[in-house]
Amino acid sequence: MKKVTKTAKKNISPQKTKQSKFIFVVGGVMSGVGKGITSSSIALILQARGLNVTALKVDPYINVDAGTMNPTEHGECFVLHDGLETDQDMGNYERFLNVDLPSVNYMTTGSVYQSVIRKERNLEYKGKTVEVVPDIPLEVIARIKTAAQLADADVTLIEVGGTVGEYQNVLFLEAVRMMKGEMPENVAVVMVSYLPVPGSIGEMKTKPTQTAVRTLNNAGVFADVIIARSPVGVDQKRKEKISRFCNVKIENVISAPDVPSIYDIPLNFEKDNLSTRLCELLNLQHSKTSDLRGWKQFVAHSKNGRDTVKIAVVGKYLTSGDFVLSDVYISVIEAIKYSTYKLGLKPIIEYRSSLEFEDGKKLSDLKKYDGVLVPGGFGKTGIEGKLKVIEYVRKNKIPYFGICYGMQLAVLEYARNVLKLKDASTEEINPKAADLVVGIMPEQREKIAKSDMGGTMRLGAYVAKLKPKSQAALAYKSAEVTERHRHRYEINPDYIEAIEKAGMVFSGTSPDGRLMEIVELPKIDHPFFVGTQFHPELMARPLRPHPLFTAFVRASYESKA
Ligand code: GLN
Repeated sequence: MKKVTKTAKKNISPQKTKQSKFIFVVGGVMSGVGKGITSSSIALILQARGLNVTALKVDPYINVDAGTMNPTEHGECFVLHDGLETDQDMGNYERFLNVDLPSVNYMTTGSVYQSVIRKERNLEYKGKTVEVVPDIPLEVIARIKTAAQLADADVTLIEVGGTVGEYQNVLFLEAVRMMKGEMPENVAVVMVSYLPVPGSIGEMKTKPTQTAVRTLNNAGVFADVIIARSPVGVDQKRKEKISRFCNVKIENVISAPDVPSIYDIPLNFEKDNLSTRLCELLNLQHSKTSDLRGWKQFVAHSKNGRDTVKIAVVGKYLTSGDFVLSDVYISVIEAIKYSTYKLGLKPIIEYRSSLEFEDGKKLSDLKKYDGVLVPGGFGKTGIEGKLKVIEYVRKNKIPYFGICYGMQLAVLEYARNVLKLKDASTEEINPKAADLVVGIMPEQREKIAKSDMGGTMRLGAYVAKLKPKSQAALAYKSAEVTERHRHRYEINPDYIEAIEKAGMVFSGTSPDGRLMEIVELPKIDHPFFVGTQFHPELMARPLRPHPLFTAFVRASYESKA
């Protein structure tokens, strides 16, 4: 099996590489105000000035990567090309910058400690006492510099997870302080803060921001720019106040009101000339004008859809307590949007919990959708509901797109209801079933037995070859594709012949033909019924919509009731 490593290390010679400028983005007041999107937007507006930009995320968790975290805790797990399981913000950076980022661009407290301890065990500290300070921040700094060199970046943007004042990100702030001390002219700090407008007084309050800045100062770090997130724009009077009390030049207080779409944010920042401010602060040579033409065109398309297309996403991680989680399937949702905009349409995307379809009573609800998508997932919860949904859309010819688990379950449903293998199952939920149509990949069996679960799935980019003239090949307009993966189970090769005889087509396989990568029903039997073992959503970009999503949305629109 051919593993694609697109991020093969360049020969890094410190003399040859130019000096990168570093921008740290930290959060003040509270989380959830869009620090990730702010970071992505800053990266984009600097890229639009002709600069080579890369972006990193540092997360305060002990988890070595994001792969072991439940998505209801932490949102989607985003997989990089080289297979690292990361925070969803990495997806935002890739989408905004339209680049593939390497694994050195993501770190957690756990991964940093792991490297330091490994180096200590290898005697790399040459007998020195290894200490939390400075050795942990030094490891953080070394990784940041490696990322900058690997990307040959003019600007390296580093988003520090969490909010200032949290015990957890102190060592990352220490890294910021040390880097600023080492090269003050090359480091800028941006604080993303929140300015509430309490309903009872109807006035924007700056005090929480002042307190957050003071907390940041206690760590020896001083903000150069404050992004003032608020329900409304920040007026001149508040800008003056923030400037005076937070020691930031007034032109470096940037208004960031709530906007209808996250894709407006870079354009909004430029209304306050943020890229110019940052270039001046860091003495960056940049092109005089900002080239955001492609982005502006994309934003315009996103607002001018001539008609709607209605898609249901049927998953299980949809709520936490009384709140609907919108972050769990973020890459899938965004991928649907990009393709819909490309087709000149407006998406209406509804989350439906698979649990509500278990008793079969609500299945006819699905008729109101033009297309149904079942995204990736793990475990038993909601499986029978998903299988019922898939059976319904197959029989009623509603366009279907199944991703990873959504593909495995599509094959399982077919085995049960068309091949009449009533006791068919996936080894993941019933290893004792008579027909394990979806089985564990041989190399995974041992890992599970040893509980070696972190970062051990089949992860990252692999090549798949496509069957000529299949729907997949027609959509991609290519005979071979590279897509990102995250799974332990596979379609059991013992059942492939029988499944194909019954009408399903395996239209994409690993180059050696062993692993099924794409499954589909022929167009004469169904307007669109495609499943992928990989996660195409991870490669969809605003300026490069994914061909399979586009084919799915097009078929959905064409079959619109
Ligand atoms: N649970 C399935 C597997 O591990 C599918 C994984 C997924 O959907 N990402 O193979």
